[in-house]
Parts: sequence; structure tokens; C-alpha cells
Amino acid sequence: MARYTDARCRLCRREKTALYLKGDRCYTDKCAMQRRSYPPGQHGQGRSKISDYGLQLREKQRVKRMYGLLENQFRSYFHRAERQKGVTGTNLLTLLERRLDNVVYRLGFANSRNQARQLVRHNHILVDGQTVNLPSFLVKIGQTIQVSDKSKNLPLIQDALEAAARRGCPQWLELNKEEAKGRVVMSPSRDDITMPIQEHLIVELYSK
Ligand code: SF4
Repeated sequence: MARYTDARCRLCRREKTALYLKGDRCYTDKCAMQRRSYPPGQHGQGRSKISDYGLQLREKQRVKRMYGLLENQFRSYFHRAERQKGVTGTNLLTLLERRLDNVVYRLGFANSRNQARQLVRHNHILVDGQTVNLPSFLVKIGQTIQVSDKSKNLPLIQDALEAAARRGCPQWLELNKEEAKGRVVMSPSRDDITMPIQEHLIVELYSK
């Protein structure tokens, strides 16, 4: 499956937002956003006027990159959100939050969504006791998500659990750190997504 393989810090600099794509490094002074918080390239430091369309496009790119998705995948989440009852922008964010790779990251089993995706793909994660290797799997209320017994003591997972303590676990998930196990206790709400996202701009962009 296609995925982005270029320098990740460039994406943060392009969006002028720390997207936390590199795990623990993002919380240190090695973060590129601390050293060069302007867009990459020759004109990165120039002043530019941004149109309404530009604002909408940048917001869509920011969220898409935050969750590590490509355009077609992101657009299909939007169409699915549109078909659901309620506010399309909130539906979209809720769907993205329910992705298994995001849940693994939110529970602290991985330091980044990218690392979480690797764990899922390599059969380290069980949902309700069964191995699920689809990062796009959407978790439901009541499901348990855990690291398989053979992988629980991997240094990568133990280190991630330690580092995740400073991020905290969202209230829609319940974490048992000792057993590397979590449960979905409710549907994620808009307030659980603390990144500064203006989802109405994405809805406006795709509704043109
Ligand atoms: Fe973004 Fe992390 Fe790189 Fe900082 S270190 S620019 S937050 S990916």
C-alpha cells in the first residue's frame, strides 16, 4: 500500500504546526519546528498572502498528514462522514480517531501513528483477542485493544508506554498499562481532539 516516505519534519514545517510524526524526538529541542518553524524551500521565509481556498487546502493537508493518510483515503473518510447523521466535520474527526493505528498510538503502545501502523501491520496488536493487521480497522465501543503476549515486553513498546504518560490517555479510552491493554469506553467526542483543527474548512473545501 502506498505511503509517504519523504522527510516527515518537512510536513510539519509546511503546515507550520508540530504534527508529532516522529515520536519522542518531537518533544525534545531536536524538533525541527523549534529550530526552523517556517515552510521549507526557497520561498519558505517569504511573506505570502493566502486565499480562502489556500486556507481550506492547508487545513485539509494538515489533518491528512497528522493521521498519515493519502488523498484518496482521506477523501473516502470525508464521504463516509457526509453520509452519517450529524455534523460532517465532527463525524470526519471521529472516524479518523477510531482508526486502529490511531487508537494504538493514543493508548501509548507506540510513539507515533506511523510506529503504531507498523505494530498493527506486523501482527503485534489484538482486538477482542484476535490479531488484526489492518491499520484502518475502525474500533467500536466495548472492544479491547491489546499488545499480543509475545510482544508485550518489546523495548519499543515499553519505552513508548513510559513516554506516553506525558501525553495522557483520552477519556474515551481506558488503559491498563501493566497489561498493555485498552478498552473503548465511549465514542470519541470533538473535545477529545485537542489539536487545533478547523474542520469546517475541510468541509468547505470538499463541498465546492
Ligand atoms: Fe514534526 Fe516531530 Fe519533526 Fe518536530 S520532530 S518537526 S513535531 S515530526
